[in-house]
Amino acid sequence: MNHVIRLLPDAIANQIAAGEVVQRPASVVKELLENAIDAGATSISLLIKEGGKTLIQVIDNGSGMSEADARMSFERHATSKIKAFDDMLSLKTFGFRGEALASIAAVAQVEMKTRMANAEVGTQLRIEGSEFKSQDLVAADVGTSITVKNLFFNVPARRNFLKSNQVEFSHISDELNRVALAWPEVGFSFYQGGVLLQKLPAGTLAQRIVALFGENVREKIVSISEETDFLKVAGYIGKPEAARKTRGEQYFFANRRYIRNAYLHHAVMTAFEGLLAQASFPFYILNLELDPEKIDINVHPTKTEIKFENERFVYSVVQAAVRKALHKTLAVPELDFEPPSPWLATLSSPPTQRSPVFTPTSRPDTVGKSNLDNWTRMFSNQAVSPKQRIQQFETERSGDQPLPAQSDPLEEKINAPDRPGLFNLHGKYLLAQVKSGFMAIDLQRAWERIGYERYINQINHQNASSQQLLFPKSIELSASDFALVQEMDAEIRALGIDWEPFGGTTLLLRGMPSDAAQQDPVLLFQHFLEQYKWNQTHLQVPRSHSVARALAKRNAQQQQFHYWKDAELNDLVHQLFACTVPQFAPDQQPVLKVITLEEVAGWLV
Ligand code: ADP
Ligand code: MG
Repeated sequence: MNHVIRLLPDAIANQIAAGEVVQRPASVVKELLENAIDAGATSISLLIKEGGKTLIQVIDNGSGMSEADARMSFERHATSKIKAFDDMLSLKTFGFRGEALASIAAVAQVEMKTRMANAEVGTQLRIEGSEFKSQDLVAADVGTSITVKNLFFNVPARRNFLKSNQVEFSHISDELNRVALAWPEVGFSFYQGGVLLQKLPAGTLAQRIVALFGENVREKIVSISEETDFLKVAGYIGKPEAARKTRGEQYFFANRRYIRNAYLHHAVMTAFEGLLAQASFPFYILNLELDPEKIDINVHPTKTEIKFENERFVYSVVQAAVRKALHKTLAVPELDFEPPSPWLATLSSPPTQRSPVFTPTSRPDTVGKSNLDNWTRMFSNQAVSPKQRIQQFETERSGDQPLPAQSDPLEEKINAPDRPGLFNLHGKYLLAQVKSGFMAIDLQRAWERIGYERYINQINHQNASSQQLLFPKSIELSASDFALVQEMDAEIRALGIDWEPFGGTTLLLRGMPSDAAQQDPVLLFQHFLEQYKWNQTHLQVPRSHSVARALAKRNAQQQQFHYWKDAELNDLVHQLFACTVPQFAPDQQPVLKVITLEEVAGWLV
C-alpha cells in the first residue's frame, strides 16, 4: 500500500507523446492542482509570487505520499495512475503521464513536504534542476505541499520568454478558475505575495459560479442536465439576455478536465440561435461525462483539444441539452412576460427576413364613435382577406410559422343588435353576441394590439399626444439603462414620453402618453424599460417596434378593465376592429375567438 508508484514500462513510456509540460508558470499550476485533486484533496491552497515566476506553492490535504513514493514521484514516467497501456485511453486519467513533477523539477527549485494520514512523520525533499539535494523526515500536515521556486532558473532563454507578471498572473488565474469550476466540492484559496486574493469555499457548482463571476450571475443562469446511455451533459448556461460581447466565460469539461472544442461550441451557439444579439456570446459551463474510451485523446502533455469517437452524437446531445434548458427559461420568464409562442417553435431556424416598415392604413382614433354598424362592416370587409392582412403586417412573424388553426373570426358576420350587449367577464374578457354564437375578446391583449398599432403610427408620423405631468417625477437609473433611454429618445418622445436628463444617470419624467395618463408614470416607465430590454434581447425587431410593443404590453397589463365603463369598452371594440390585425396581440397570442352555439350546446350535454 505504501509503494503505489511504479515506473512505466518502457513500451508505454515511449508511446507517450513527448512534449513540453512546462511552458509557463500557469502550466505548473495546472499540473500541481490536478495532482492535488487526484490525491483526493478537499481543500487546496495556491500561493504565488511575481506571476508565479519566483514562487508557486500548492498545499493540499489529500492522501499524501510515503517516503519512497515521494522520492519516486520525481522520476520521469513515474505515476501511480497508469498500470497498463489500456488505462492510457482513459480520460479519467487524462494527464496522468507521470512526467509533470519530473519536468517541473528539471527547470525549477522544488521542495516537497508530504505525509500520509497513517504516518507519524512526513518527508521533505529538495530537488533543483533534476538534481537531488536532500531528503529528510520532518513534521508535516497530512497531505502534500509542493513549492516551485524560480522557474527556468537554469534555462535563461525560457525565463526571458515569459511575459509580464500580470500576464502570467492572469494565465494562472484562468487555470485556477477552470479547475475550480470542474471541482466545486473542493475548496480553494488563492494567495498572491502573501495576500489572500480569492477564497472559494467548497459548494455546489452554482455557488462556485457565483463565487467566481459575481452575485449578479445567480439570476442569469439555468441548469442543464441531459443523460443518454453514453453521455451525460451537466452544468449551467447563461440566459440569452446575459450574453456578453466578448468571448471568455465558456467552459467545456470532459470528465472534469478542461477542454477546448470548437465543434461543441458551435453546438451551443446554434442552440442559442435567434436569441442572442449579434456578435454576443452566451455563458456556459458544461461537463461531459462519458466513457473515456469514447474519447480519442492525443496524450500530449499540454493538449486541451480532444476528439470524440462519435462527435456528431456528442454534438447533438449538447445542442439538445442547451435547447431544452432554454425552453425552460423562456417558458417561465422571471417577470410576467408572456413569451410569444412562435419563437419557441422557431428556435432552431435562423431568424427570418422581416417585412418592410409597418404603416397602419387607418388611425384607430379616427374611427370615431359610430355605432356597431362600423364594426359589422369591418367584419364583413372582404376586400383584403384577413390572412393577407396578417401576413402583411405581422412583421414579427417568422415566415414559416403557420397561423393558429381556428375558424377565422373576421369572416364571422356580426348579428348587429340594437345594443351591443357587451359583457365584461371578470375584467378579463369581453363577451359579445355574434351571429353564430358569441365572441370572447381578451381585454388585455386587445388593448395591447390597439396600443401597439397606435404607437407604431405615432412613431411613423411623429404625432404623439403627450400629457404633461403636474409634478414631474425623477427616476434614478443604472448607467446602462440611462444610456438605453438616450438611445431610444426619438422613439419614446414620439410616443409622448417627455423627459430630460436630471444629473448623473437620473432622468426627469415630464410627460407621459395621454392614453396612459391615469397610471402611475414612474411605475409604467420602469415596467416599460424592463420590457423593452427584454424585447431587445429576445426579439429580432427594429427598435421602434420594440419600443411600441414594450409600452403597449406594459400599459395593457396595468389596466384595471374591471372598472371600465360600458362606453369605454364600446370604444375599445371599435378601436380593436379598426386595427390592421385585430385578432392577434403583437406577440401572436390570439385576441379573440368566436364560440358557436353548437359548441355551447356541446358543453351542456
Ligand atoms: P501523474 O499525475 O501523471 O501521475 P505527476 O508527475 O504529476 O504524474 O505525479 C507523479 C506521481 O506523484 C503521481 O502519480 C502521484 O502518485 C504522486 N503525486 C503527485 N502529486 C501528489 C499530491 N499532491 N498528492 C499525492 N500524490 C501526489
Ligand atoms: Mg499529474
